[in-house]
Amino acid sequence: MEGFSVGVPEAVCLGASLALSGICYYLYRKSRTTVDKLDDAPHFTVDGKLKDILKVTPGACLQYAVIEGAVQPVGEPLTSHFQKEIAGVLQKFMLTQQRLVWNGLSSTWTDSERVLHQRVNTVPFVLVGSDETAVKVLCPLQASGVHTEITHEKFHQVNYGFGDIVGQYLSGEKIKGQLETEEMLKVGATLTGVGELILDTDGVLNLRPPSNSAQYFLSITDFDSLRRDQESVAVWWRALTIASALAGASVLLWVGRRYYCHLKVRWEQEQERREFERMQAEAPRAPAAAPGPEGLQDAAEGRAENACVICLYRPRNCILLDCGHVCCCHTCYQALPRRQCPICRQNISRVVPLFHV
Ligand SMILES: [Zn+2]
Ligand SMILES: [Zn+2]
Repeated sequence: MEGFSVGVPEAVCLGASLALSGICYYLYRKSRTTVDKLDDAPHFTVDGKLKDILKVTPGACLQYAVIEGAVQPVGEPLTSHFQKEIAGVLQKFMLTQQRLVWNGLSSTWTDSERVLHQRVNTVPFVLVGSDETAVKVLCPLQASGVHTEITHEKFHQVNYGFGDIVGQYLSGEKIKGQLETEEMLKVGATLTGVGELILDTDGVLNLRPPSNSAQYFLSITDFDSLRRDQESVAVWWRALTIASALAGASVLLWVGRRYYCHLKVRWEQEQERREFERMQAEAPRAPAAAPGPEGLQDAAEGRAENACVICLYRPRNCILLDCGHVCCCHTCYQALPRRQCPICRQNISRVVPLFHV
C-alpha cells in the first residue's frame, strides 16, 4: 500500500455504515426472535381448566403463553378526568408542547414536541374468561403493545402579537400550543396478554413479565395483529440492515477501485522506467552523464546550464514528446503529478533518452 492512503471521509463513511449495519442487524435479530417466540407460545383459554393445566406443569409455571380476557378491576376502578362515565384500570395523562423548530440544513420549519407533564395511574386488575376464572395481570407498565385508547384530546392554541412573531423568527422556534391527552385501558376491554403464566401458592393465576428475557405484551388488538406489528418491525430492521451493508460495500468498492488505479499507474511507471533504461543501454554512444553523485559533481563543475529544471542537480537526460522539450531528468519526470511538460504544459505521450555526440 506504499503511497496509497484511505481518505478521512472514506474511513468515516465506512466506519459509520459498518456500525449502523451492526446495530440494525442486532435489532433485526432481536425483533425476529420476538416473532419466533410469539409463534412458539401456546394459546390458552381463561377458564377452569387453566388451573388444572398449571397444577400439572413443573413449577406451576408456563414461561411464555398467550391468553385473552376481559379487563376487570380488583378494587375500585379509575375514572376519566374528562368523561366521568369512563372507568379504567390504567390511565396516562400527558401535556405536551407542540412547536415548530427552524431546521437550517433543510431550510424548513419542522414539527417538534416536548413533554411538559406526564402522570400514570394504575389499579390492580384481572383478565376474566367465559366462566369467571380470573388471571391477575402484574406489572402492566412494563408491557409493550397498544393497550390504551385515547379518551380525551384537546389542543390549546397560543395567540401571538406582531412582536412575538418577529421574536420567534429571530429565535428559530415557534410555539403552536399545548396538547392535552388522556389514555385509558377501559374496564371491560378485551385484552390479549403474552407473558409468564404462574399459579401462586394461594391458588391465584398471575400473568407477569417473562423471566427468560422474552418480551411482555398487553394489547387491545387481537394476537394476529400483535404478531403482524412485530413482524413488520423485523422487516423494517432487515431492510435497514441491508441498506447500510450495501452502503458499506459501495465505500469498500470505491476504495478498492482507487487502489487498483494507483497500482496500475505504478506498474505503468515501472514499465516506462525499464523501457527507458533498456534504450539507454542499447544506445550506440555513451549517455550524456550517469545520474546520481556524478551529476552532482558535474553541476559543481559549472555545468549548471545542463541541470534538470526541477531538481537543479541531475543532468537533463530525457526528451519529452510530442513537444520535444529537454528540460528534466528521468527521476523528476516520473515524479511529475501529471503527464504534462513542466515548460509548455503540453501532454506527454512518450519519453525517450537523450544522447550527446
Ligand atoms: Zn531532476
Ligand atoms: Zn514542452
